Parts: sequence; structure tokens; C-alpha cells
Amino acid sequence: MKLKTFERGVHPSYNKELTADKAVVRAGLPGRVIIPLSQHIGAPCEPVVKKGDEVSEGQKIGEATSFVSAPVHSSISGKVKDIVMHPHPSGARALAVVIEGDGETRDWESDGGGFDLDALGPEEIRGLIRDAGIVGLGGATFPTSVKLSPPKGSRIDSVILNGCECEPFLTADHRIMVEESEKVVLGLKAIMKTVGAGSGYIGIEDNKPDAIEAIKAAVSSLAPDIRIVLLETKYPQGAEKMLIDAVLGRKVPVGKLPLDVGVVVNNIGTAAAIYEAIRYRKPVIERVVTVSGNGVKEPKNLLVRIGTTFDEVISQCGGLVDGMEKEVLSGGPMMGVAQKTLEVPVVKGTSGITVLAGSEIKPATHKPCIRCASCVDACPMGLMPYKIADMGRLGMTDDFKSWSGLACIECGCCSFVCPAKRPLVQWIRVGKVRLREAERSSSK
Ligand code: SF4
Ligand code: SF4
Repeated sequence: MKLKTFERGVHPSYNKELTADKAVVRAGLPGRVIIPLSQHIGAPCEPVVKKGDEVSEGQKIGEATSFVSAPVHSSISGKVKDIVMHPHPSGARALAVVIEGDGETRDWESDGGGFDLDALGPEEIRGLIRDAGIVGLGGATFPTSVKLSPPKGSRIDSVILNGCECEPFLTADHRIMVEESEKVVLGLKAIMKTVGAGSGYIGIEDNKPDAIEAIKAAVSSLAPDIRIVLLETKYPQGAEKMLIDAVLGRKVPVGKLPLDVGVVVNNIGTAAAIYEAIRYRKPVIERVVTVSGNGVKEPKNLLVRIGTTFDEVISQCGGLVDGMEKEVLSGGPMMGVAQKTLEVPVVKGTSGITVLAGSEIKPATHKPCIRCASCVDACPMGLMPYKIADMGRLGMTDDFKSWSGLACIECGCCSFVCPAKRPLVQWIRVGKVRLREAERSSSK
């Protein structure tokens, strides 16, 4: 069978074998959690608790104050010790609620209601998703209730679940598909009902045969109309625009969104979280995190409470290996963010903690470009990375804009293939920030 895919892209070493066959295990209950009030794209939450308050597991501790935002909940039962600025895995600092646990836990599945989509209208489902603080759990962290609120007049005909997990090392979505396939399929049905889409698809790369089988079985018993689309294993197959192209053959124009071509894309973990929000009224207080890389002693897939520090998570995986240089990333090696401290907390968007070691660490250089065009051949967006990267680095904002620098999806393919190891994607990020600043100041 011919596998579907998109144009260009790269084939990095996937290294999934370290954790692909390891079932998700629940991490130990942390004695203390640090829960940032900003774990999503959009306005940070306002705290609705204060120092000294007792909180229960799942209680709202941060309220969304604007439409593009998502509330934050306590992941453990205990007492608020502090509300302070704290390092965030994004590299910034954010206001966070520090909670000391009392050891109590709640069994969400024993006191949940039912999962009757016929009894719920789109607005009710959207409300449950918003109340549960669900955001794109693949790492994008866009508030899901906002994504599922298309503007008046737009028509969504298709929902695609992203089961690619094309980032090297990460296997969290893979394990959710194998172990929680029914939640995934029912979550997709809920999304389809919310946006009024008649067609549902689950795109899965062909390097996950056990996940394909599990999802096929769940679809055939629960929703035979949903189509499973087998995709070539290629990076960045899971990027929204690439996925829509591969699954439906629709191109999302530069500057437009998936909904402009009638599509909504959601992540596998997000669909499972939607199921849990509807069935158990359970907010996002924990998530599956792949802890992997040759720098960690016992790679695992762990179900981790939000706010647990990276240090504690890594120690539950045997700790770091000795005697080698190491680099800890939030996420995988293509799009992940290097961490300066392990005191950062797991947040809703933490799909993985990757610890690279020794020769896996590839420091960027500033060697001259040799005009080999490898970056151009790799760019899935059809951009000229060597040009826009220099425009970003040099502050040439008008040129950066006219060469479509804003269309870059920051996949890192260009940096990955560059023989001169130029930090192209970092320079492009700088270009975007400078362009937005320039546009803000000119509009003032
Ligand atoms: S320019 Fe942007 S979209 Fe193109 S390969 Fe580089 S990071 Fe990816
Ligand atoms: S891959 Fe690197 S060296 Fe080759 S053209 Fe692009 S920036 Fe220049």
C-alpha cells in the first residue's frame, strides 16, 4: 500500500526503540508541585488561591481572564506554600503556584459520569473542554476550546487526529494509541460533534504497527466511519500543514489556518483528555511524558502530575548516566528547548524530556554558509532558510517579511541538514520577534 506524505522534510534517527514498547507507568506522587499559571498560548491565568489555602486535587487555582487562555488546576491535594516567579521549560520565567502535598489522591474513574455524546450539544462539550483547561497536548498548547470555536461563517468538514509523533525519541502518543485507543476514538467523535464535521481521520506513521492495530480495532467497534490514514515515517509529518496535505491533499496557504481549508487538527493526547473531561469531569492535572535519550539510565513513559520537577521525573528513571556531557531538552531534539535547570516543572505541553549525551549533542557553529542549498531542499514550507535566517540575524525586517519568514513553522529541518551547523531556526525565531516588534511600534 502506498503511504501518504508531504513534499521535502528529513529522516532523522528516530531512536524510538528506547521506549516504544514500554507501557505507561504512573510516576510517584510528588511531595511538592510548581504549577505555572501560563501553560498555554494566550493570556496567563490569574491566581484564584492564596498562600496558606488548602487545595484539593483538580481544584481550579488559576482562572482564564481572556478568550484565548485556559484555566489551571491543582495536580495534587495539599496547601499553597507560595505564589512566585519560577523558571518555565519554555526558557522564560512565569508566575507559579507552589503546593506542598498531603498525600491524598482522588480516583477520578470511580466517581465519573457517563459518556453520552447524544445528551450533549456542541456548546456544552466546548464548555467542558474549557473548564478542564485542555490545550494542545502535542506541545503547541493552543487552548482547545478556542480551536474548536470556528468563527461564524466558516465551515469545518474534517477533523484529523495527529498520530504521527514524528519527533525523535518521543513515544507518549504512541503508547496512548496502544493503551487508550477507545478514549482516542471517542475523543475524536466529541471533537467532530463540537465543530460539526462529518469526516474524521487518524493519521499514523507506519513505524507504529501496534498503534495502527489498536486504533483499527477501536474504530471498527466504536466509529466505523472514521478513516485511518497510514503515513510515511518522515519529519515533520505531524506538523498541521504537512498532515493536512498528506491526509486530504489540501494546501493551507501562507498566513492562513487549517480552518480556512475546512479542517481542524488535534493531537492524540488531546483527544484522550477530551474524553476524560466529558466522562469523568477530569481536568488536565497529569500527562504522559516520555523520558528518553542515552543520557538517562532507565528510559520510560511516565504518567506525571503537572508541576513535578524535571529533576524528580528524571530521578524516577534512575537518574542521569555518569561521566558524559549531557543536554536536557523539554521535548525532542528537533523542536525541543534546552534546559538550564532541572527545577523546571512538567507543564501541559511537556510531551517528553530528552537527555542527549556525548556525541548526540551537536553544538551550533557560525561557520560561513557554503550555498549548498540542502536547507532549501529540506524545508517543508518551500522557504529559503539560508536567506531568511540571515535576514533575521541581521534585523532586515522588511526583507524577512517579503521572503515569508513568518511562514516558517520552526521544524528545525534546515538546521538539521546544514553541513555548516548554522543555527538557522534560532535566527529565524529572532527575525520573527524583530518583525513583530517593528510592526507593533509602527502601528503605535
Ligand atoms: S525555514 Fe522554518 S519551516 Fe523551513 S526547514 Fe527551517 S525551520 Fe523548518
Ligand atoms: S544548508 Fe547551511 S550551508 Fe547549505 S545553503 Fe543552507 S545555510 Fe548554507
